[in-house]
Parts: sequence; C-alpha cells; structure tokens
Amino acid sequence: MKIDPLVFHAKFPHRCLLDQCKSRCCKGGVWADIGEKEIILKNAALFVPYLRPESRDPSSWFGETNEDPDCPSGIAVETNVAGDYCVFFHPDHGCSLQKAAVDLGWHEWEFKPRFCIMFPLVVSEGVLTVDEDMDDVWCMKRENRTHPILPSVEKEVRHLFPEDVARKLLGEDYGCGTPPGTLPGYLPKKATIP
Ligand code: SF4
Repeated sequence: MKIDPLVFHAKFPHRCLLDQCKSRCCKGGVWADIGEKEIILKNAALFVPYLRPESRDPSSWFGETNEDPDCPSGIAVETNVAGDYCVFFHPDHGCSLQKAAVDLGWHEWEFKPRFCIMFPLVVSEGVLTVDEDMDDVWCMKRENRTHPILPSVEKEVRHLFPEDVARKLLGEDYGCGTPPGTLPGYLPKKATIP
C-alpha cells in the first residue's frame, strides 16, 4: 500500500462529533468486502432489533457486487439504502452494526465494514488517501477542519493497520530509511470471523 502525502497534512475536526454531523457519511451506504457481508448475514439476528422497520429484512441489505482490488477479498458489495440512509443506520443508534456489537460485548467495530471505520481515509487503487469527494459532510467542510487528520483518527488507525504501519502513520517510527509515501510489504489485517 502506498500512502498519499496528503494524509500527513490534511485537516479534520479534533474528533468525530455525531451530534454535529448526524452521520451524513452513512447516507449513501458503503462498499463492504464480500467477506464482511457473509459475517454480517451469518449474525443477522443480532442486528435486526436495532434496525428501522423498513430495513429489517436481511435479503434487502446488500446489492451490487464489483471486483475491487482494494478489498481484502478482491470483491466489494454495496450496502443498500433505505429512506435515504444505509440500511444499517438508525437515527437513535447510529450504525446498528456497531451498536449491537457494543451492547452484546463485542469490540465496537467487530461487524462494521472496514471502509466505514476508515472514513475519511480511503484506500483507492492501492493508495491510502483522504476522501476529499465527501466535501458536503460536516467533518469535511473547510471551517471544521482544524486539526491534523491522523492524530484525530488515531484509534481507527491503530485498529485498522498492522502496528508498523500505524506507527509510521502516527509519526512514531520515522527513523532512517522509509520516506513518507511508501510502505512496502503492507498486508491488510484479515477480517475476524466470530
Ligand atoms: S454500515 Fe454502518 S457506518 Fe457504514 S454506512 Fe452503514 S450505517 Fe454507516
């Protein structure tokens, strides 16, 4: 995985603030990995109580699939939209996949698609960069982008990437040798199968 130098100087709010953003990044749904879809469907009964009535049928949760080399499996699948939000969104709970996991004692991101955890960082064509296209959501508006992005998403970075990659992204491992922008040998963590 290469790293766009933009990630080292792009700005973001000091942290996500759901009361400000109203989870508008969830409006269009997300491209998940096909392996994440299988895990979500295998555990469907956990999430149904948290979903809006119009989203409770698991057969309605996923749509089109596409080849995507940026996904661990190489195949991406879209989460569908119901009432203008991702099927897994609930206005009282936020992401139902996360809410159910927390309530049931799992890690909060056990079932949440990797690309949702990663936003506003994104991997595109093998390059980790910043999703500057989502400039209509609160956290990506110029006036709210007051802090360096990587410290603001430190928890997510440490969760998503192997330790050596996380340390480099967070500026903890800038010794000799590795110039910003290239991390040879990067392998994404495998999804955990409950
Ligand atoms: S899966 Fe959860 S976090 Fe991702 S877009 Fe849907 S509601 Fe939002």
